[in-house]
Order: sequence, then C-alpha cells, then structure tokens
Amino acid sequence: MNKIKKVIRADVMGFCMGVKSVMDKVETQINLDPERTLFTYGPLIHNPQVIERLESRGIVPIESPSDKSGGTVIIRAHGIHPEVRKEFVSAGYSIVEGTCPRVLHSQKIVTSHSQDGWYIVLVGDKGHGEVKSIAGCAEKCVVVLSEEDAMDLDIPEKTLVIAQTTLSGKEYGAICDILQHKNPGIKIIRSICPATKDRQTALLDLTSRVDAVIVVGGKNSANTRRLYLSALNEGVPSWHVEDEDALPSEIYEYTTVGISAGASTPDWMIERIEAKLLG
Ligand code: SF4
Repeated sequence: MNKIKKVIRADVMGFCMGVKSVMDKVETQINLDPERTLFTYGPLIHNPQVIERLESRGIVPIESPSDKSGGTVIIRAHGIHPEVRKEFVSAGYSIVEGTCPRVLHSQKIVTSHSQDGWYIVLVGDKGHGEVKSIAGCAEKCVVVLSEEDAMDLDIPEKTLVIAQTTLSGKEYGAICDILQHKNPGIKIIRSICPATKDRQTALLDLTSRVDAVIVVGGKNSANTRRLYLSALNEGVPSWHVEDEDALPSEIYEYTTVGISAGASTPDWMIERIEAKLLG
C-alpha cells in the first residue's frame, strides 16, 4: 500500500545554468534544420536517459573529427581542448558553442595569464572534460587533485591557481593553503561555481522536512552522487535512482518524501518520479 501523502521538492535542484543553456541550444539547432546531421562533442551531460533520447533523435556523441565525415558539432558545457576544436574546424565541421560561460571565463583567464608567462596550477580531476579543456589553454600547467599532490609541487614565482568549477570549496581551500605556504605571492582564482553548493544547501534543508529522500540523476554524475551521500549522512533513509522504474518498494512506507536532483537531471525525469511516488 502507498502511504505517501506528500512529495516535497528541494528548493534548488536539477539542471544548472550551463546544462540548461546547452540543452536549449540543441533544441534550437534541431528546429533550425531537422534534416541536418548533428553531433555532440562527447556525451553532452552525465545522464544516460538524456543521452538515449538524443540518440533516438539521431544526435550522437563523437570524440574526434575522424569519427564521422562532417556536420555540426555542439560543444558540451565542459568545453573542448583548443587543439581539438581546431581539428574539427579544419575537417570542415560547423561548431555550436555550448561551453558554459563560467568555464569559458576560466579558459580566458588561463589563456591570458599563460601568454604573460604564468605557470598554471589547475585543481581538479585530470580525466574530466572541463579540466582537459582548461588545461589545453595553458602553456605550462600541472593538474592536482589532492593535498598530497600539492605538497609535492615546486611553485614558480608567477603561479596562478584555478579550480575545476565543480570542486568543493573546502578541498580547494585546503590545497590553496598548502600552495600559499610555499609561495605567498601566488594568484588564486575563485572559479568554483555555486550550482553544486546551492543544491547541497537545498538538500540539507529538505532533509529536515521529510521522512525519506529520493535523489534523481545519472549514476555517472558525481554531483548527484554527492547529494545522495549527503542525504544519507544526515541519517535520512535515501535512495539514488536514475528513473521511476528504479524506485525502491520501501519508499511507499513513508508519509512525506523529498526529491532532489543533480545538475544534469532533466525536469521531465523529476516529474515522472514525482508522479510515480504519488500514483
Ligand atoms: S555546474 Fe556551474 S560551471 Fe558547471 S556547467 Fe553548471 S553552471 Fe556551468
């Protein structure tokens, strides 16, 4: 029997500004010319259901110009390494800019400082698309992720430190403290995007008002997973699901259920989950 009487959504959840913007661009491009061949540079977002929907409309991810023989490529919010962008242009592809304005801003800072001879310390996950796109703008750059990495570094006089936009402020602060201790003259850029923190803050508020929490989003989405772990950490029964078919039977034993969602979770999936909970 379904005991759920009320579903409460977190005040902030789902698509962030950068993801919403690139998804809107995809729709615009489809509407401009439904017959045109459209690609995305890598998977557009960390959400398998969205990628599946795009693929069903013929929009597939490619990693290199040689994967296909031309067309229009939409750059994802993480951006693209400048050399890879040039390769696509040389191969005759049209480019639609989908890089998040915050990532573009980081790329511009790194480019201009590199041209002035600065050494770049980029704090983030070196396998992440955004980090690759920013590191590609630097002449001399090292990517670090942990305090241990930072301790091992030699820091030249002109050093600029910048973070992957989705990093936790606490981790970035601890790494900056280590680097500043080595060289008090380093320049630190506050590049962390508030989207992740805003969703975390809203989730914590939600946990105080509900009996259980469903966090919606791709299993491959790091920010969704962090929301789920935070809810668990608050001692509230919580589940991370990708779609309505994954809702656990136990959820129907609670009266008030909260929903949160990662920055790459579309509204239509949140609505499906809510409908099934109340159904
Ligand atoms: S999390 Fe922030 S920086 Fe990243 S795509 Fe979203 S709005 Fe842009």
